[in-house]
Amino acid sequence: MSKGRFGKYGGQYVPEIVMPVLTELEAAYEKYKNDPEFLAELRKYYVEYAGRPTLLYYAEKLTKHYGGAKIFLKREDLLHTGAHKINNALGQVLLAKRMGKNRVIAETGAGQHGVATATVAALFGMECKVFMGAVDMERQKLNVFRMKLLGAEVVPVTTGTSTLKDATSEAIRYWAAHIEDTHYIIGSAVGPHPYPTMVRDFQSVIGREIREQIKEETGGRLDYLIACVGGGSNAIGTFYEFRNDQSVKKFGVEAAGRGPAVGDNAQTLSNPASRPGVLHGAYSYLAQDEDGQVIEVYSISAGLDYPGVGPEHAMFHEEGIVKYVGINDKEAIDAFQLLCREEGIIPAVESSHALAYLEKLMPNTKKDEVVVVTLSGRGDKDVQQVAKVLGEEI
Ligand SMILES: *Cc1c(COP(=O)(O)O)cnc(C)c1O
Repeated sequence: MSKGRFGKYGGQYVPEIVMPVLTELEAAYEKYKNDPEFLAELRKYYVEYAGRPTLLYYAEKLTKHYGGAKIFLKREDLLHTGAHKINNALGQVLLAKRMGKNRVIAETGAGQHGVATATVAALFGMECKVFMGAVDMERQKLNVFRMKLLGAEVVPVTTGTSTLKDATSEAIRYWAAHIEDTHYIIGSAVGPHPYPTMVRDFQSVIGREIREQIKEETGGRLDYLIACVGGGSNAIGTFYEFRNDQSVKKFGVEAAGRGPAVGDNAQTLSNPASRPGVLHGAYSYLAQDEDGQVIEVYSISAGLDYPGVGPEHAMFHEEGIVKYVGINDKEAIDAFQLLCREEGIIPAVESSHALAYLEKLMPNTKKDEVVVVTLSGRGDKDVQQVAKVLGEEI
């Protein structure tokens, strides 16, 4: 496999001016990724700050509800800041520190990655700028305020559609002009090499813990893994450890939104119409129109609302290592309510897409089989939106 490629996907499609900093980052990551001191420090923050290992919880009532395989939930929702994004933010900020950078920047759409970045910047005393589309800032006022509380500066982006893809372009532009002292923390397993590899490695703690924990729960028996896919970081973190285990069937759940029409969903791999192309520095599948223009995608869930997908998923898709499927808004909201009522756990709407796939999978499972669903985040951030969808006044 050539450098930074997953089959034919991945690579470094960036302006010339960004190349030196990617090369520097790649060298630093190569140097530290197996360095015992670096890994011990990361481990310490995972354990003492973020709250790892997260529970592998046996959802007994949900299992009874379906009457098939035993269902376990990997509880990334219990992490500090409420989702898996902190795994990556901690890894990258530690690397930035090793590289002698004292400022971090990030892009954010719904604000979740911005909050995770602002959190680790506060912890390490680094200056932090978060680029966010002006439209998204209006939609996500609470997260904008959270970032400010954490000491970050939120930079409104008013180019293009004033949303995530414009914020990403703006962050790249800013980075190119401040290369010496600034590290760019990308929030998912996307972007130019080495980001997809680096983010995957930081998130792979999820799958490694599942491997350990399932040994104790079932003696190691595991038949199915399910995770939701936006850019694909919690999913690659779940699947990577099991990539060569053919007996473990892996499902990546994309947002099927309000229907199959172009622009009504955020499916990049499970959509028969999607094709590979270049977005944000990498060659991967992406949602595009007939002329190859990236289209605006839609999902009820802001965290899944991304027109691209990590390049390693593109390879897993073509090689049949993971099956990518779609779950629509309504199915996700039904699953959200089901988990609240059956288990007393309020899941993120993103994670509810993964949970909703149980509805399709479980009728074909047997009682002695085992399924693990990664619960990527908690749903406190989503209750207002869900109330609106359900027509409740709050
Ligand atoms: C951001 C987010 C996602 C989607 O991002 P991935 O990189 O695909 O994991 C999923 N769930 C939650 C809770 C998120 O905050």
